[in-house]
Amino acid sequence: MKPRDFPPGVVLHAPHCPDAGDGNKATLPTLKAIADYPSFRWCLCGNLDDTPHVVVEAIDYGLHLYEPAPGVPPRDAIRPLCKTCRGTHGPATSGVVAS
Ligand SMILES: [Zn+2]
Ligand SMILES: [Zn+2]
Repeated sequence: MKPRDFPPGVVLHAPHCPDAGDGNKATLPTLKAIADYPSFRWCLCGNLDDTPHVVVEAIDYGLHLYEPAPGVPPRDAIRPLCKTCRGTHGPATSGVVAS
């Protein structure tokens, strides 16, 4: 697999979850969401076995500097994940200041 930039981490919700958003509940197939947002976290409402489609909630991490998280980065990440947002602060990541 070719290393790539990771977007900031998101939260995946089952479509019925009250925390999934304010009526704007576009869903994605779970496997596609996981491929597109590898730094995802599950909300308590969902899991891979029971949730074929998910609502992706983007998290506002605010402005922060890239600080590599300790430990072994994912093999397909272009560099270690940011401690704060679990993204790689690549050029595709807009609105976040990279150091
Ligand atoms: Zn949820
Ligand atoms: Zn970050």
